[in-house]
Amino acid sequence: MLIAAILLLFITIYNKYMLLFIISSSIKKTRKEVTSKGSGGMEVILSSLENTQDLQTTLNILAILNELLTVGGGRRTGVFVSKGGTAILLQMLVSSSKNPPANEELMLHIHTLLVKVGPKDRKFGVKSRLNGALNVTLNLVKHNLQNHKLLLPCLQVLRVYSSNLVNAVSLGKSGALEIMFEIIGPFSKKSTTLMKYVVLTSITAVLCVCSSGMNARRAVDRGYLPTLLSIYQDWHRHDTRHRHVVIRKSILACIKNLTNIKLGRKAFIDANGMRILYNTSTIYNCDVLQECLAVRTLDPLNDDDIETDIKKLRPIQVNTRPFDELRAYEYFCREFSEIFELHRPIIIPTTPSSLGPQNRRPLREDLVTPRPDESPLELDSISISKRPEGTADHDLVCSLGRLVVDGGVNGGSVDGLQDEGGEQAVLEVPDTAALLPLHDPDLYLEMVKSTRSVPAYTEVAYPDYFGHVALNLREPILERVYGVQRMKIFQDIERLIHSSDILDKVVYDLDNQSCPVTDNGESLKFNSKFESGNLRKAIQVRKFEYDLILNSDINSNHYHQWFYFEVSNMRPGVRYRFNIINCEKSNSQFNYGMQVLMYSVQDAINGSPHWVRTGSDICYYKNHFSRSSIAAGGQKGKSYFTLTFTVTFQHKDDVCYFAYHYPYTYSMLKMHLQKLSALRTAQIYYRQDDLCETLGGNSCPLLTITAMPESSSNDHISQFRSRPVVFLSARVHPGETNSSWVMKGTLEFLMSCSPQAQSLRESYIFKIIPMLNPDGVINGNHRCSLSGEDLNRQWQSPNAELHPTIYHAKSLLQYLRATGRTPLVFCDYHGHSRKKNVFMYGCSIKETVWQTNANTSTCDLQEDLGYRTLPKLLSQMAPVFSLSSCSFVVERSKEATARVVVWREIGVQRSYTMESTLCGCDQGKYKGLQIGTSELEEMGAQFCLALLRLRRYTSPLELQNHNSHLLDTENDLIDTRGIPNITSTTTYVLEEDEAAFLEEVDYSAESNDENDPDLEPDLQDNLALLDPSSDSEFSRQDSVN
Ligand SMILES: [Zn+2]
Repeated sequence: MLIAAILLLFITIYNKYMLLFIISSSIKKTRKEVTSKGSGGMEVILSSLENTQDLQTTLNILAILNELLTVGGGRRTGVFVSKGGTAILLQMLVSSSKNPPANEELMLHIHTLLVKVGPKDRKFGVKSRLNGALNVTLNLVKHNLQNHKLLLPCLQVLRVYSSNLVNAVSLGKSGALEIMFEIIGPFSKKSTTLMKYVVLTSITAVLCVCSSGMNARRAVDRGYLPTLLSIYQDWHRHDTRHRHVVIRKSILACIKNLTNIKLGRKAFIDANGMRILYNTSTIYNCDVLQECLAVRTLDPLNDDDIETDIKKLRPIQVNTRPFDELRAYEYFCREFSEIFELHRPIIIPTTPSSLGPQNRRPLREDLVTPRPDESPLELDSISISKRPEGTADHDLVCSLGRLVVDGGVNGGSVDGLQDEGGEQAVLEVPDTAALLPLHDPDLYLEMVKSTRSVPAYTEVAYPDYFGHVALNLREPILERVYGVQRMKIFQDIERLIHSSDILDKVVYDLDNQSCPVTDNGESLKFNSKFESGNLRKAIQVRKFEYDLILNSDINSNHYHQWFYFEVSNMRPGVRYRFNIINCEKSNSQFNYGMQVLMYSVQDAINGSPHWVRTGSDICYYKNHFSRSSIAAGGQKGKSYFTLTFTVTFQHKDDVCYFAYHYPYTYSMLKMHLQKLSALRTAQIYYRQDDLCETLGGNSCPLLTITAMPESSSNDHISQFRSRPVVFLSARVHPGETNSSWVMKGTLEFLMSCSPQAQSLRESYIFKIIPMLNPDGVINGNHRCSLSGEDLNRQWQSPNAELHPTIYHAKSLLQYLRATGRTPLVFCDYHGHSRKKNVFMYGCSIKETVWQTNANTSTCDLQEDLGYRTLPKLLSQMAPVFSLSSCSFVVERSKEATARVVVWREIGVQRSYTMESTLCGCDQGKYKGLQIGTSELEEMGAQFCLALLRLRRYTSPLELQNHNSHLLDTENDLIDTRGIPNITSTTTYVLEEDEAAFLEEVDYSAESNDENDPDLEPDLQDNLALLDPSSDSEFSRQDSVN
């Protein structure tokens, strides 16, 4: 108090210069104390400021405050704000404006202070409006256009006002834009850069992205867009030494805000903006161009998805079906009642034709497949001989109704094929028998015959026929080259600017079978009419560039991501650019080093039958094709994404295949199962049943694998029957082919003769559904079944007709539970397109509750920690597995998935989704490498080994009666030092886990075409970027190159 009093005394006696001298030179300590919290010094200053009537004293105090806040930084400003300083300044501003002419020095001081204080005061926007300060400042600007000393702080204050949306609208109405546009003129050599910068950023703030768009409309109406463009050109011309990049960027920011509205984009195009910015193209205007190509969208806000309703986290007994209904499933569990006579060789029915509880139609054996091994030898004719005229034009039967009626009616015939094949020759099939014990080309063709596809495919893709041998070579995750996205967008823009170069020639079109009409031999040939194929249309855009359009999932109008198609008639050594232009996910691992897969038939015949990661200049970005609101699930203004990649073919007359990920067809599964069943020994119990028939008329295999009882003694039989069940499934999502490769690894391990495999078989009875969605896989879907639904969202109440595989899988689980054989582990294998490594999602009531509200009295919830054991073991054993990516939180959006339903309704505590990356690993032995089939298969085998170890960690009591409450020695494995520590190892995982690129186009910004409610978001952070003193935004960008 004393110090403050002394200060006051000084104020009244000395003039401000004297005072400043004293303060700054000798009483540094005092100044500190004045503003430190609790000293009350600031209050004293403010109250004297409020109460003084003397102009000179007021000026003195304001000068001191300016000095204090300039040196003191944020903390002092905070004290000033908390003591009510803002309101005092604003009132002073308004009252002094009432007796014009206002004192210029006073105005200068007040505005200089407001520039400092405004951004630190969360309520500044409201306060300034309520006090009526907006127009005072605006009038000052209007009357002092030449008075730069006063103009600068006033403009800065306008900018701060405008961070509040209501203020921005109000300033717009009062003519702020018109005044500010008077100030920015063409480029000049005078040192007015700062001023222009401030004007521009103020305009940008007034045109704020989030405001209702009213100001932007006003600016467009006034014709400011062409003005801004010509100003931009002017600066670009004169600023040859790039000294005023900040200004140019600010002009672009203004333009960008104008192009947020439809009207603005039209004005931009009309003013030839595309060409102007393209010709002056720099790194800085790329996103404006992109803006004008793209329709901006607002992705739905990621609602808090964590389940908070404790009731929904507790196990439930869904109105249990009468056991009589479930009794039919006894058929699939015959091992529990079988009478083993072990002195004689055991014959277990294993053919897929064994009848299940559902009456099955016999699979048609009369489907015909052209046989590549009867085709001419020369590769240049493969594409022709593979598509004989007679088989090329059967109708696409895409609707569910017709599918049921027509079944798998096939247009092709052996005759048609033979008519075409003039010169018969034998194609050399790569000899892969030693490397691919489960592959056999002839067997594959056999399998294809009984596979029913909606389009009634008659062709077979070579990679599936020859087989894929895992590449014995490291395929590193690509280092992303900075600027690729910009370059690609510029190339896209060039289509509009140099439209004469554009061919726009449709070269492949499933909807128009007579396409292409003319072929000058200059275009690539495309084909996707084979199992799992997906390509709807190919358009030659430029000589060596093609736009590709994917088929949506059957009976749905979205889900485009999976692709698999054939290309021929290529020129070697030329860079071809491919753009898949109707992708739907908002981001992709293609932006983080993942490559597409390519298979060359020439290479295969020459001894390298591999799918190889390929492509350069890969990126994935939002394009300007907008999705209909029907296709976007009712959301307006959604647009598609482009995956672009560039490939140089090595061979002339090659036939190459491209795929999203390593293909794994349904016919391949059937072939593998047949080969696996042949590996059966006297020790292995292996049985294949048909769980049911799918909508498309294909069978869904169910495997039972365990060890034969050691003998038919009562002890051995009873050990056999008391083995806990492990229930596995995969490929409910057809586009996630990696899950099938992991499953293949699991199955091969289970059928192997290693002692560990035998020990595992002796420990458990495996029930495995390796492909939950055969129809989706066959027809090249990405996500759905033939009913157009995501089958992994049907587990709560699956429909026996529409979702037969889910319905019967769940019924089988219900049967197991009803007979006291609730599985010890349930795991559904999936693939993840946006994350690296392999990881699991599990279910924990406690971890879910902790994520939402730690205060609820849930500490008394009983929960066994056994669900953590398996992921923990996997992280110790499997090099691709990452524990830190695992999550055990139950999300609302996942309540109908296998994992959650099996956990809640069947009561399987260890119920998981295992997600495998489509891209690669960023940890472990394979860090930095893209994932291949051998790593995926290894993962499947490691999963088995982890189950073997899980058995050792699980108490014998649990194994004998695993429905009782678990006595878990597994806990030894887990860090149980206090509950919170457990959560610390995993986190609630959001969809994206990759760091954003500097280059990345901002996909999240919202559209102004739909009016937003009058939001008042806190824009203070943005203001920090707008502040000329902090050029972080620019230096960040600049330092990248
Ligand atoms: Zn999935």
